[in-house]
Formats: sequence, structure tokens, C-alpha cells
Amino acid sequence: MRAEKVALGVDIGGTKVAAGLVNSCGRILFTTRVPMNAGGKADEAMNSVHDAIRASLDAANGMDLCGIGVASPGPLELSAGLVVDSPNLPCWRNFPLRDRVRDRYGYATRLDNDANAAGLAEALWGAGVSYNSVFYATLGTGIGTAIVLNQRLYYGRTGTAAEGGHMTIDLDAPCACGCGKRGCLEGLASGTAIARRTREKLLAGHNHSQILSLCGGDPAAVTAKTVATAWRGGDRLAQDILNETAGFLAVWLGNIVDLLEPEVLIVGGGLSKVMSEWFPQIKAQMPSWSINPRCSEIPLVEAKYGADAGIAGSAALCFSEPAALTVSLPAAHEL
Ligand SMILES: [Zn+2]
Repeated sequence: MRAEKVALGVDIGGTKVAAGLVNSCGRILFTTRVPMNAGGKADEAMNSVHDAIRASLDAANGMDLCGIGVASPGPLELSAGLVVDSPNLPCWRNFPLRDRVRDRYGYATRLDNDANAAGLAEALWGAGVSYNSVFYATLGTGIGTAIVLNQRLYYGRTGTAAEGGHMTIDLDAPCACGCGKRGCLEGLASGTAIARRTREKLLAGHNHSQILSLCGGDPAAVTAKTVATAWRGGDRLAQDILNETAGFLAVWLGNIVDLLEPEVLIVGGGLSKVMSEWFPQIKAQMPSWSINPRCSEIPLVEAKYGADAGIAGSAALCFSEPAALTVSLPAAHEL
């Protein structure tokens, strides 16, 4: 009997490295997690990656391992396999992560950003499995997106396409996004933005909200999770904040439909559970923000992979054709 074909996926974050084995049907067979010291030296951080990979390799004994996929927070330079200068990974500047992994273990290795990876897993095996054109958004601390056409990621000219979270949707909004642009969706509707908008309201006198008691009376301690909990408890301010968030997402998704007209819109990430309860409102508003007369027909669905999206996504990179970038740029530090 032939051994089962599997890919090893490595999901790198600012505080942990998760890794695991995923088969060609998208089933997760093994997972492991190790702490990540993203503020340390480059090699110390790399040791966390090695620990996670070695544990997965041990578990892959007897299986047919087809490659290693690595998902990392961006920005990355895909053609060179570099982590450029991710705010979540100060340990690595222009760091050749892909080649470090490939050279150590000898397997075909692919690197991509976490949103692209998670979007690809949804398209191959998750909520997008029966569609040829998929738009994926991960709503969490930030907002990442992926475009998957015919089971392949769309990369653009140099690999930097599909940064949909940084599309400006409100010119009058403050510059609240780390990227420096004004009015980005991420600066208005991410978890960080939900917490900031709530804090501003609490400080402006909305102090009867349950949110305050949930965070021990300290507005600085508010998170998107607190807001979601308060909303489930019937809190009015939380309701207003999430209603406004749904409105931002409707404007954005209406525009996405005008640009791409994908067959499905998939939402993943830590906020997807709570925002999926707002999908009916978002869908009802989208036609006001799209010229597509059939906008309402496009399904808006929650992602299938939850907490394991990074492992499934990084492994998915090994089961899809690699990027065909038309342009390879000099490294950022040479520009
Ligand atoms: Zn931005």
C-alpha cells in the first residue's frame, strides 16, 4: 500500500509557531505549538521554527511528505523567499526564511503570507471548495485578504496583490492603520479598530455600557472580544459598534464584488464567528455599494478552518501550483 501523501505546514506568529501535517484532502493529522521569541535574535527565533518542524517530521514517519509550506505575517518578498520587515517579527529583517527551511530539511519549500495561505486552504478544501473564484478575508487583529482563481492564488506583478484590507473606504476617517494610509478598512473594522472605536465612545461618556464592567472599569483594557461578549449580553453600545462594523464591511464587499465578482466571499479569522452573525445585515446593505445587479446572489460564508487555518493554509501551499511572478525585484534594502 502506498504511504499517504502529506504536507508539513508551519504557521509563524508573533508569539507562537504552530506546525502540523495535512493530507491532500485537507485533513489535519497532527499539530504542535511552540513559543516564539519574536523579539529575540534571528537564530533564536529560527530555533522555534526548527522545533516545530522537527516534531512534525517525527510524526510524519512512514508518510509520503511532499513539501513544507510556511505562512508568515507580511510583508514578504515572495520571489526571494524573504521576510522583509514584519512588525510582528522584529527578529527578522530581510530574512531568507524560505531558504533556511529548504536548506536544512531538503524538501520543496514555499513561503507565503498568512492571509494568502488561509485563503488557499479554504479554496482547496474549505468553504470555497466548489468554487473557481474565491475572495477570502481574515478578520482579526488586522484584515488580510486572498484571491484564489482556479485553485491558484492571484499574486499580481511582484506578489503583493490582494492587500484588500488596506483599501480606503472612508476618506474622512483618521489615519488609524499601521500602514500609514487614511481610512483603510483595517483601520476601521479590524479587532484593533473595534477596540479603539469602543474606547473612544467610552471615554466620550458612554459609560453605562456592560463593556466597562467586563474590562474591569478600564477603557484601555477593551478588546474586540469584550465587545462581542457585551453584544451577546444585549449591550447597546456593543450593538452600535458591531452594526457600524457591519456597515464598513458592506461598503467594502460591495466594491470587491464590483472589482472581482467572485463566486463566493469567505470570512475567517478570530472575529469571523461574531461577524458571521451580522452576515444577513451585511448582505442586505451590499447592493447599495455595488453596481452588480446580481450582487445578492454571491454567498457570504464563514471559513471552515478556525484556529488551524494557519496550519492548513501553509500546508495548502504545497498542494497548489507555485506563483508565476512576472517581475522579480531587487531586495528591499537594495532599492
Ligand atoms: Zn492600511
